[in-house]
Amino acid sequence: MRDSEEYATLARQVYRAAGTIIADKTRSFGKGSWSVSIDIDETALDNSAYQLELAAYGQEHNSQAFNAWVARREARAVPGAAEFVNLVRKLGGNVAWISDRDASTAEATRQNLAAVGLWSDDDRLCLKEIGGKPKSARRQEVVSGTGKCSWNGSKHRMIAFVGDQLGDFPSAEEQIPETGSDSAFGSTCFLLPNPTYGRWTNAVTRIFEQEH
Ligand SMILES: [Mg+2]
Repeated sequence: MRDSEEYATLARQVYRAAGTIIADKTRSFGKGSWSVSIDIDETALDNSAYQLELAAYGQEHNSQAFNAWVARREARAVPGAAEFVNLVRKLGGNVAWISDRDASTAEATRQNLAAVGLWSDDDRLCLKEIGGKPKSARRQEVVSGTGKCSWNGSKHRMIAFVGDQLGDFPSAEEQIPETGSDSAFGSTCFLLPNPTYGRWTNAVTRIFEQEH
C-alpha cells in the first residue's frame, strides 16, 4: 500500500471514475448547491508512515499516538485526491471532509490537507467531537443545511461519497438519493482499498454461502 504502483493506480482509477461521473451529473446544477463527502484517513491522507512507525516500535494503534502523528502534519495525499477536489471546485461543488479524527486535531488536519493541495477555505471539516455525532448525522447536516457541517443554512445535494470503510457511505435509512445499496458503488459511492486496518481486518462481514 505504501510503495506499490498498483495501489496508486487503483486510487487514481477510483478518483478518476468519480470525477467523470460528477462532471456529467452536475452540468445543470447551480454553483454551491451540491457537495461531495470525502473521508480523510486512507482516503485523502496516507498515514502509512504512522503505521510503519507503530510496527517498528512494536506498538498498537491508539488515539494518543495517532493524534501525535496528526500533529506532525506529515501525511501525504492519496493519489488522485487532489485532482478530484480540484475538479469538484471547478464544477461549482463544495467538499465536506467527514472524518472520525478527533475534533481537537482540526487545525493540524486542516494544515496537513492544505500542505498537500487538498484544502480550500470553502470546505467544511466535520470531525468527531467528544461524545459527538456519527458520520450519518454529519451527512444530514450537509443535506439539511443546519449545523456545523453545513453551508450557511443552504441545503446541499450530496452527490458523491469517497471513503475506505463502509461507514463512510450512507445507509438506506439516511434516505440520501441514489445511495444505501450495493448498486450505489461506482455511481455515487466510491470505495478505496485499505487492507491494513479497520473493518478490512477486524470484522467478518461477508457470508459466502448467500452469494451463490
Ligand atoms: Mg478512512
